[in-house]
Amino acid sequence: MPEYDAKKVTEIHQHLHSHLPSDSALRVKALESLLVDKGLIDPRTIDAWVEAYTEEIGPKRGAHVIARAWSDPNYKQWLMKDAPAAIDKLGYLGNATAHLKVVENTDSIHNLVVCTLCSCYPFSILGVAPAWYKAAAYRSRAVRDPRGVLAEFGVVIDDKIEVRVWDSTAELRYLVLPQRPAGSDDLSEGELAGLVTRNSMIGTDRDLTAKTGGIS
Ligand code: FE
Repeated sequence: MPEYDAKKVTEIHQHLHSHLPSDSALRVKALESLLVDKGLIDPRTIDAWVEAYTEEIGPKRGAHVIARAWSDPNYKQWLMKDAPAAIDKLGYLGNATAHLKVVENTDSIHNLVVCTLCSCYPFSILGVAPAWYKAAAYRSRAVRDPRGVLAEFGVVIDDKIEVRVWDSTAELRYLVLPQRPAGSDDLSEGELAGLVTRNSMIGTDRDLTAKTGGIS
């Protein structure tokens, strides 16, 4: 008969748990199952919403807004002054963009967006917020040590560049207008949109290039 090995059993136990979804994911699943059981929602509706926000809306709408601003100076001016109206022009206005401010990166300014209270995010144009955006560590450290957080995203900000942190609320959300990549002068609006990363519109990405990038 094999001997009982407490250490081994603990390892197996931890290994099995590491494959379980997080507590919040399990709670959401339980809630979803109850609502479906009671006939209050149709699971196909949930699938359609999830698909729309991850595949259709994703950050593609935001990238379109940014590419239009890069291509058309008048549109950019409008976007900076009245983002909801300028975004509505592209047909993307939604609950999360009705009160939105666009903040522009320049050679001397870098903008970083956070929601310290919870997870306010312009999902109507950026889709589902990444898990790290909702994490307590990001929400607290983005304010206390924005340069340190940015460095962990691989974005090292020169000391001469001012870092501005914007705290989103349900009443006012933010979208970063990244700098247009060098060497992208001949690209079409559609091609430009392909260079915009989701993180660059949150501020955890900065130097986009004309060769790489794209929605991630
Ligand atoms: Fe929030």
